[in-house]
Amino acid sequence: SRHSKYSTAVATEEPIKPSVQVEHTQLLIDGKFVDAASGKTFQTVDPRTGEVIANVAEGNSEDVDRAVAAARTAFDHGPWPKMTAYERQRILLRAADLIEKHNDEIAALETWDNGKPYEQSANVEIPMLVRLIRYYAGWADKIHGLTVQADGPHHVQTLHEPIGVAGQIIPWNFPLLMFAWKVGPALACGNTIVLKTAEQTPLSALYAAKLFHEAGLPPGVLNVVSGFGPTAGAALASHMDVDKLAFTGSTDTGKVVLELAAKSNLKPVTLELGGKSPFIVCEDADVDQAVELAHFALFFNQGQCCCAGSRTFVHESVYDEFVEKAKARALKRSVGDPFKGGIEQGPQIDSDQFEKILRYIRSGVENGATLETGGDRHGNKGYYIQPTVFSNVKDGMAIAKEEIFGPVQTILKFKDLGEVVQRANNTRYGLAAGVFTQNIDTANSLTRALRVGTVWINCFDTFDAAIPFGGYKMSGQGREKGEYSLKNYLQVKAVVTSLKNPAWL
Ligand code: NAD
Repeated sequence: SRHSKYSTAVATEEPIKPSVQVEHTQLLIDGKFVDAASGKTFQTVDPRTGEVIANVAEGNSEDVDRAVAAARTAFDHGPWPKMTAYERQRILLRAADLIEKHNDEIAALETWDNGKPYEQSANVEIPMLVRLIRYYAGWADKIHGLTVQADGPHHVQTLHEPIGVAGQIIPWNFPLLMFAWKVGPALACGNTIVLKTAEQTPLSALYAAKLFHEAGLPPGVLNVVSGFGPTAGAALASHMDVDKLAFTGSTDTGKVVLELAAKSNLKPVTLELGGKSPFIVCEDADVDQAVELAHFALFFNQGQCCCAGSRTFVHESVYDEFVEKAKARALKRSVGDPFKGGIEQGPQIDSDQFEKILRYIRSGVENGATLETGGDRHGNKGYYIQPTVFSNVKDGMAIAKEEIFGPVQTILKFKDLGEVVQRANNTRYGLAAGVFTQNIDTANSLTRALRVGTVWINCFDTFDAAIPFGGYKMSGQGREKGEYSLKNYLQVKAVVTSLKNPAWL
């Protein structure tokens, strides 16, 4: 049956009305909200019900041209890159204050459009955005070059200058956090921006970008174009007047935008892509804590995290106990209307992802993994999926190799550390890993051996603004957040001045 015994009635109740109106559905170009040149709109949908929230202006290449022209003018002739870093810093700080002031409305928009629990939007995601903008505001007046020793009678210095117009393409899983990771460092360094939101979640970034303007951002510095990937996204990636591209999304689309960037003007590209991150539970682990953390590592954000701990490797000595407890924890997970208090899991983003996840679940069953719990939709409307746990998963199964991007935990058994390292690394991805052990030597060996951009030891999904994030292998190129992200948005100019006198008189 479509409704297993684990379904609760929550998803069949009337959805809670969000406490916010949709104010902005147009494109934000040159500081003004405008319709798409074509006049076309697309629907953005409430994942709780599949009903339309709003019709949103659908940007295409003509709109990207307009937005890039505005960003170009703002960079070449506007005040933004030329004002003192202190002034830029103050604008960013004011923007963070305004976003903080409107925390609850923005959180409501985010949850409505994306489906993530409101408590998470309001208490975690928006505060993290605010923290991150303040963090980069702090960098704005600390960006400087070097004095360099050269052989001849020369004075040599480097200037760290903004690159120019940054094109930024973001996904739907953390619409506002991805917005912040992109615009924070780019603005701190003095660049101008054309940002394309994901077609599933256009609303919250328009609201936040408006607040940046209220904070004093000059027109044209931050332009937001809603629209689809192959049209608006591709136009941005291939634009001759875009000086840098930053992309977060799937590995397949990452390859497409890299190629578009290369074929147009060779703009440098940073990519933050998919993952199939191992979460390794060693034999000395406290099983209860490991179960809880592994559960969080996978199920957080409906399982829609690029760094989800989506391969739970458990040592054979604690495997049976772990599986039993992981199943019990998943059964306790509260699924339902994300606007309701105490809800841990809302709906998946859209029908495509919903269907894709159910296909993966079916393939897991067909390939002989043991379905411990879940496996079906939750309720009878919207895109809710039961928290699902598979044990007895083998490395070759699709559910162990491919990104499911949903609430599906796959548990694999291992015998020794050498083996688990080899298996954990046997993937085209290399975004993150979790290591659960009390033994510092084990933690140290695994940390060095795992080919990933982040290792979380006895924690997971710790995302402070200062911690760099990015992937090895096909999980991406470059690092975001922290000091590392600044160099994505800076050019280095060497300035060599000939001196009349030698160094020693
Ligand atoms: P996607 O990579 O296609 O979309 C991400 C962004 O890229 C969106 O803004 C989209 O409009 C844009 N885009 C799509 N095609 C483009 C093109 N040809 N040129 C330029 N821009 C383009 O991801 P998706 O289809 O929304 O999701 C598919 C899968 O991607 C998911 O199931 C998941 O595995 C993965 N994903 C990863 C992340 C992440 O954070 N790394 C986020 C979302 C999705």
